Amino acid sequence: MNERTYLDHNATAPVRPEARAALLDALDATGNGSSVHGEGRAARLVMDTARARVAALVGADPRGVVFTSGGTEADTLALTPDYQRGVVPERCDALIVSAVEHAAVLRGHRFPAERVEVLPVDSRGRVSLAALDAALELQSAAGRRALVSVMLANNETGVIQPIAEVARRAHEHGALVHTDAVQAAGRISVSIRDLGVDLVSVSAHKIGGVPGAGALVMADPDLRPAPVFAGGGQERGRRGGTENVPAIAAFGVAAQSAGASLESEQIRIAALRERLESALRCEFPELVLLVGDVDRLPNTSCLSLPGVPAETMVIALDLAGLAASAGSACSSGKVAASHVLAAMGVPGRIARSAFRLSFGWSSGEEDVNRALGAFRRVMPGLLRRRAAA
Ligand code: PLP
Repeated sequence: MNERTYLDHNATAPVRPEARAALLDALDATGNGSSVHGEGRAARLVMDTARARVAALVGADPRGVVFTSGGTEADTLALTPDYQRGVVPERCDALIVSAVEHAAVLRGHRFPAERVEVLPVDSRGRVSLAALDAALELQSAAGRRALVSVMLANNETGVIQPIAEVARRAHEHGALVHTDAVQAAGRISVSIRDLGVDLVSVSAHKIGGVPGAGALVMADPDLRPAPVFAGGGQERGRRGGTENVPAIAAFGVAAQSAGASLESEQIRIAALRERLESALRCEFPELVLLVGDVDRLPNTSCLSLPGVPAETMVIALDLAGLAASAGSACSSGKVAASHVLAAMGVPGRIARSAFRLSFGWSSGEEDVNRALGAFRRVMPGLLRRRAAA
């Protein structure tokens, strides 16, 4: 009972030992990357190395990487009407997003609310390409250029969006395309060129780096979103403020580790999830697997025990030693109704009971065994309470 099982990598992943070592090394070295002395140059070298590693994770040119404080800031930086390519302004007049985006995108940021269009998704959580076409036509007809932002993989369900197709259609209308790959990077192969997108957001703490670092990556290093913080012109004028060198160093190492083991890890982690899902389905047919028959991340399971509130399930599992998460609780710790499941048309009774298990680099067979043990301990009581309610 003392050993805990952590199946909440989509909220945050445990820090990889090699990333921790890089963080500590960078903490011990003094130096501001903008300083010209030896210490400053050493800090710059650490950041350049990390920049190349993060760029490699998404198949980009290192000059296209702008370090931020995380995925939220990367999304915020991307969601602006004011772009430049080199010195040429490239204004976007409208924002088109999917209904299942993370709140970091759904808020629209520097776009006025009346210029944000939200695309519906189907019952499996995939964005409607017909609605995208219609939205693009509408904006083109009004003489407006759009920025399209559709996530690569969903944080609650793991559903993977057809981003290459989204980008192809959007580019036919001259739009810019951003994808939030915070959950996808390091879990499935992400190539900015193969996807055909202009901008990608990534975050360190989802892949075994530490919180406090992320990046917005541009396919064209000359593309410049108007900075959120202009400050001292760091990151080639795209994000002011002294960089978080230790977190960036750890981010680079985590990106390198995740990239190096990507293929084998996808297979290993998908097998762990498959073993847990099939054992749960077999032992507890009352559990509903919310998305199974769709392209999804290898690490994510979204389940529901209808009639048992998600927070009750998560607390019961927590007491039994298993860290899971409820709804879209990864941000605030409070359980809000999931806008993702609502957009998919999942009935309220099932959606209110939805919880998520997410594997990652530190997960192993023993986690599946312990997770099953936790379900075996909590399910009889939860089912009795449900029957009595
Ligand atoms: N985008 C997605 C899809 C996420 O899942 C998250 C975090 O849960 C974010 C953005 C925000 O990233 P960060 O926590 O690094 O700000």
